[in-house]
Amino acid sequence: MQVFQGIGIVRGIATGKIYEVKRDKAAVEEYSGDVNPSHEWQRILQAKADTETQLAQLAERTGCELGETAASIICAQQFILVDEDFLAVLNEKVWQEKNTATVAVSQAGEQFLSHLKSLDDSYVRARIGDVEDVINRLMDNLRVNTLVPNFTAHVIVVADDLRPSEITQYFSEKVKGFVVRNGTPNSHTAILARMMDVPCIFKAELPQETHLSGREISIDGETGVCYLEADYDTSVMLATKERTEARRRESRSMLRGLPTITKGGKELKLLASISNITELESAIKNDAEGIGLFRSEFLYMGRKDYPTEDELYEVFRKMAEQMAGKKVIIRTMDFSTDKRADYLLSLKENNVVFGFRGIRVSFDHPELFEIELRAIYRAAAYGRVAMMFPLITSVWEVQRIKEMAANARRQLTEAKIATGDVEIGIMIETPAAAIIADMLAKEVDFFSVGTNDLTRFTLAVERTSNQLRQYYDPYHPAVLRMLRMVAESAKRAGIDIGMCGELAADPEITHELIKMGYDELSLPPALILETRERVRDIR
Ligand code: PEP
Ligand code: MG
Repeated sequence: MQVFQGIGIVRGIATGKIYEVKRDKAAVEEYSGDVNPSHEWQRILQAKADTETQLAQLAERTGCELGETAASIICAQQFILVDEDFLAVLNEKVWQEKNTATVAVSQAGEQFLSHLKSLDDSYVRARIGDVEDVINRLMDNLRVNTLVPNFTAHVIVVADDLRPSEITQYFSEKVKGFVVRNGTPNSHTAILARMMDVPCIFKAELPQETHLSGREISIDGETGVCYLEADYDTSVMLATKERTEARRRESRSMLRGLPTITKGGKELKLLASISNITELESAIKNDAEGIGLFRSEFLYMGRKDYPTEDELYEVFRKMAEQMAGKKVIIRTMDFSTDKRADYLLSLKENNVVFGFRGIRVSFDHPELFEIELRAIYRAAAYGRVAMMFPLITSVWEVQRIKEMAANARRQLTEAKIATGDVEIGIMIETPAAAIIADMLAKEVDFFSVGTNDLTRFTLAVERTSNQLRQYYDPYHPAVLRMLRMVAESAKRAGIDIGMCGELAADPEITHELIKMGYDELSLPPALILETRERVRDIR
């Protein structure tokens, strides 16, 4: 048995034969001297059409199986196939330089990628994997390769890197887990793996050996450990762990309908954080006491134009109705460098400007912001709806938001369109907001602390960077002090205080948060019952 360490991305035990993903870069044909450009161009057009069809089918399948957010990641990849600069280089490689189709795509792809890599734009750099994915797919279609075999036995997919569209292709009954030698925990691939809920390990120190394929591997997605040809004792240990986890899940389902209350009588509400309507099902199944964070920006992403008021209203109304009187907090669109909508031109123009994100983008696009505010007020006629605003730093911002919200409701009332009352809350995710929480508390009905960005902005650490991972510490005393200050300000003003960042799901801090006075935690749906169980054990 050999043991290799990595970082656990999705929890769970899995065993299967290794299927090693190979990248066949050597298969590029050499220039032969008698190329027929018209023939080669036709090959490229055919491969491009095949790629478009595959991505559309994959997006549709991904949408059905994993939800709209996952599908939007695949859809967004299609941009390179219509990129004018990329197509112009391809054209030149075929018609002027008289290269074969594969050489043209390979060289144009490399040129395009090195241009992207030279740009000082973290969003563009984050998309390099997507671009490589599409170029490889084009190459595969030129070589008429099939990508994913029809597995007949349980497999664990092992790869140096897995592209977003690849990981969803492997989503099948037979694929039991993923081991990736590189990968970053906040990449699109990791997000998709979590949605698929298949055990997954990144940054695994698995050797680069050709004879790995077909060998048996067991993985523990919680500890991030891979066991190559596990010995008898290890297999027994993993099987026991798997059975214990299954039994725990089973017994936790008995907690549905029970309050989340400590033995000392302190009650906490556990709500679900979701980003699309498909995840609502999981929130209900796991007995969420409300939706604590609906990341509405995902409704704007992966499409050619922004959604209409009616489209937004339909989604918000469904949530309000299905949560049947439980609170649904809709966070208004929160665009940033890692969450963008390409049709919003101001995002492109400002893509290198630090801080052009969150509420600032909404103020810059009042016509869009107004549509979302109206859709929220309309949905509030069907349930308990609250609105929450991202990246607040100043009191004037909240006052301006309240004016705009009142105006949106007035328009609807004048047009005799039904509305409901909506609580107004803000995210506390900047140090400025935490420090003036006493002033902000006078303006709103609730706070929800976004620890992901609060940690990032307080400690000056990019949250998606592997290189800076050791500095990204939500337990840093500066962050903890702010959490306490914010809770105290909320309590003094008599408003609700919740948390919706990743820290809300961290078992190490739940008790401390209760002591600080937090009333609500918003978590991934799958972690709600587990957290309820833990809280009910606290003295
Ligand atoms: C946060 O910043 O903690 C948060 C919940 O918002 P997001 O992760 O969407 O930025
Ligand atoms: Mg945030």
